[in-house]
Amino acid sequence: MANTRFKKPIKAVVFDLDGTLYLSGKPFPGAVKAVQHIASKVPVFYLSNNTSKSPVFYKNRLKRMGLPLQSEDSIISALNLALQRIHEQNIHNVFFFGNNEVTEWFAAQDPNLNIRPSIEETELVLISYHNAFDYKELCEVSWRIQRGIRFWVTHRDFVCPDERGPVPDIGSFLAMFETAYHVRPEVSFGKPDPAMLAPVMQICEPEEILFVGDRLYTDFELAIRSGCKFALPLCGETNRDDLARQARQPDIIAETVADIDFDSLVE
Ligand SMILES: [Mg+2]
Repeated sequence: MANTRFKKPIKAVVFDLDGTLYLSGKPFPGAVKAVQHIASKVPVFYLSNNTSKSPVFYKNRLKRMGLPLQSEDSIISALNLALQRIHEQNIHNVFFFGNNEVTEWFAAQDPNLNIRPSIEETELVLISYHNAFDYKELCEVSWRIQRGIRFWVTHRDFVCPDERGPVPDIGSFLAMFETAYHVRPEVSFGKPDPAMLAPVMQICEPEEILFVGDRLYTDFELAIRSGCKFALPLCGETNRDDLARQARQPDIIAETVADIDFDSLVE
């Protein structure tokens, strides 16, 4: 069926991961099949704010689930944007706060980076979504940022979805740092920053992109700021009561990704 809903047909689809395609690593029923289907018609991308794992980990996870990876840019990560900014600003001593696997990935991207600088050497603290830290690591960050050393965060989501209930994410860590030291990050990457869509914008116009995500203040906000179309599956964070409180409504609302009629959106 031809595109009947939008002025222009959709030429690329970008999916959020947690709460949209899966929860706690388990795909929602029909989600993988739906992505495979639309990927046979237009390029698909994956954009998650979750930096608790590296892009390599996500690549392997998505492959295992059977989700199509069509190019090197298929998985868009705030970690890459942060690295790019670090290079642009010629910063070498970056104290990296993150899970072991992500820390190793980050260090391997640039052998010239010193990711364990002393307090005195530290030019920048980069905070990713570390969900296995001990208190000493938290103190290492604290001793730096309380001195006024600049710090960036990969994203600022308050919580991360989990099948047992949402758990604190970087936005909650920031509330802790602000309470303790009255400091705020200089930069936040990740949704809703439209810069996250750069690889997709290279191949089509914003209004030809459909973003599919379950969270209003990151996913929908990104779509609004960038001018993309937006589909909200109700299998994640947002329910109909939340939607009723929203002045602006998503272009498409569906129970799950499997219920979105992608065929009616593309040429
Ligand atoms: Mg989500």
